[in-house]
Amino acid sequence: MFNRVFVEEDILNLPRTKKILEHFKNVDHEIIHRIDDYFGRVKKPYLQKRDNLNLYIGKKRGQLVKEAPNAYGFGSDPHYYFIHSYNCIYECEYCYLQGYFNSPDIVFFVNHEEIGEEIKRLSLEVHKEKRPWFHAGEFSDSLALSHITSDIEFYFDLFKELPNSFLEFRTKSVNTKDLLKQKPLENIIISFSLSPSERTKKSDLGCPSSMTRIKAMRKVTNAGHKIAIHLDPIIYENNFEEKYEELIQEILSSVDLTKILYISVGVVRFTKDVYRQVTQNYPKSDLLAMEFIKTADGKVRYPRPIRMKILSKVKELLLKNGFKANQVYLCMED
Ligand code: SF4
Repeated sequence: MFNRVFVEEDILNLPRTKKILEHFKNVDHEIIHRIDDYFGRVKKPYLQKRDNLNLYIGKKRGQLVKEAPNAYGFGSDPHYYFIHSYNCIYECEYCYLQGYFNSPDIVFFVNHEEIGEEIKRLSLEVHKEKRPWFHAGEFSDSLALSHITSDIEFYFDLFKELPNSFLEFRTKSVNTKDLLKQKPLENIIISFSLSPSERTKKSDLGCPSSMTRIKAMRKVTNAGHKIAIHLDPIIYENNFEEKYEELIQEILSSVDLTKILYISVGVVRFTKDVYRQVTQNYPKSDLLAMEFIKTADGKVRYPRPIRMKILSKVKELLLKNGFKANQVYLCMED
């Protein structure tokens, strides 16, 4: 999977680092002072992730937990995300990571205890009267490499002590092995992003198929965990209503509706830089076939009437199929 592994000297002897290195004992590794001295210092084209990927292991410095943007999450409680990894082994054509870092190399941060302390501070001091949410996977996929990072257990132990806070692991993977070893908690939600089967084949390169993800959702709910679903990003196609009707039926034939805490609906959108990267990396993708405009918030999106049509139609399909209005939220829309 990796050509070379770079490890920061400060965390070299942590048991967690040693465990990760054990997975890559046949890969050359180099001891470095700081990840920042190497990672992204020279621009590495995004598509090199296909055959030339390095791994960095180190310590996250600076702000460990960040406030999420408006309309990021479910409900009106405060939302935060924490950063325990950079980049992803999958290659979704619309992924915003392609315009975010200067490099597609993977980074694992192993100072989870420090991240945990900050989550505790925000939960027990700053928001003690509220129910804050913490999202993992803002810059990576939360489960795809969890068998290597072994961080799931740490966060289950942490949130056992924080019953008034929520944790969301967001994923497109079906790597549920470590997760299924944990005893379910009411305040930990595993959220799966889904698109209709054909769209997944075209745009979610290297990811598990939609049906495989739905099967993983069934396994996870059968084990007693709570889940959420992101129908996001929706890419417009002439028959999108039919495709989403099919997808909703597939979900409901596998997963009990009452086990789904919420379902979010969002239309494809990019920052200016990511849009430019998508046009360079995937010039022939049908994802680019529709008209995009630049909106007041600087994002590149479909024109408003199309966005509204998609959001209201998909919401209508969800309600028609038994979802309650308070289970559905529209993501990142004004
Ligand atoms: S799974 Fe998420 S993080 Fe990974 S490539 Fe796809 S959109 Fe990006």
